[in-house]
Amino acid sequence: MTLLLDAKRDSDLQHAISLLRAGELVAVPTETVYGLAADARQPAAVSGIFAAKQRPANHPLIVHLGHIAQLEEWVTQVPDVALALANHFWPGPLTLVLPKATWVDPIVTGGRDTLALRIPAHPALRELLQRGNLAVAAPSANPHKGLSPTSAAQVMACMQGKLAAVLDGGDCTVGIESTIVDLTSAEPRVLRAGPITASTLADFLGSPVHHPQQHNVAVPGNMQVHYRPRTRLKLKTSAEVQLDPGYRVARLLLSEPQDPVSVGFALTRLMPQDKPAYARLLYRALHEADQLGAKEIWVELPPTSEDWADVQDRLGRAASS
Ligand code: AMP
Ligand code: MG
Repeated sequence: MTLLLDAKRDSDLQHAISLLRAGELVAVPTETVYGLAADARQPAAVSGIFAAKQRPANHPLIVHLGHIAQLEEWVTQVPDVALALANHFWPGPLTLVLPKATWVDPIVTGGRDTLALRIPAHPALRELLQRGNLAVAAPSANPHKGLSPTSAAQVMACMQGKLAAVLDGGDCTVGIESTIVDLTSAEPRVLRAGPITASTLADFLGSPVHHPQQHNVAVPGNMQVHYRPRTRLKLKTSAEVQLDPGYRVARLLLSEPQDPVSVGFALTRLMPQDKPAYARLLYRALHEADQLGAKEIWVELPPTSEDWADVQDRLGRAASS
């Protein structure tokens, strides 16, 4: 049985802390997507994440902290650049990869000697981490390769019975996974595009930050097929997305639908032009489209500007087969 806890109720938050301390799995709200959390200091609890998600053991996890001061416990050294980024962008959707402290169990890092860390901005999760003096390892709370959940109901729909509880903290306000930046080489490298762009990081640091396209580091978990709905997803141009398919299709549009009464379209969702608003709704719209039993999901190609790089990245993987 999976309990549904309400993040606004103090006794429920306290219960989530107790479950995590007891080595149980609890899905928690973050500003990006819902995470499947386990106490990162308990290797047996962390191994439960891999079992529940059917995630390969070499895919590293992100550890979520409550305070910047905790960094020193988890990594061997905190370079100035890490501290500067943490002070400016945390709490927030930026994950830093640093050399792990020797005591950190390799199950957390997929056997690597580096560790990914961030402080999430969701107020209930921060309260849980700070009050419980916890650090939680938490990948997205969905089966391996699937769509990330951005609401407690979506977590329940795909993970019920595989975890002790879901802490309902409302809909995720960012809605897309964090930017991951590797600080273990000479110059920072973005390993996964996210809400904070490489240019934003470079402007802040006043020095170069490499984009995902500029290097080719293979990190297990950074797979081509990922973030995928069950229904086949196709990316379409603005012209293509208006053509009647002749079979049931769910569409996510950026331009106004030209033929609103076409029989072929099981769902037509006009998405916001504003990137943060689009990202906030993307997974919800894909979950909704996925539930219709349509033959395909068509998504109108997003703009190619850098601020849309995370959306382009997720949609590109979702469309991969
Ligand atoms: P998620 O599956 O959304 O929780 O994201 C975790 C992803 O972060 C992994 O799939 C990796 O791509 C990346 N990651 C985590 N830890 C590391 C690390 N130590 N080095 C490089 N990438 C990492
Ligand atoms: Mg994931």
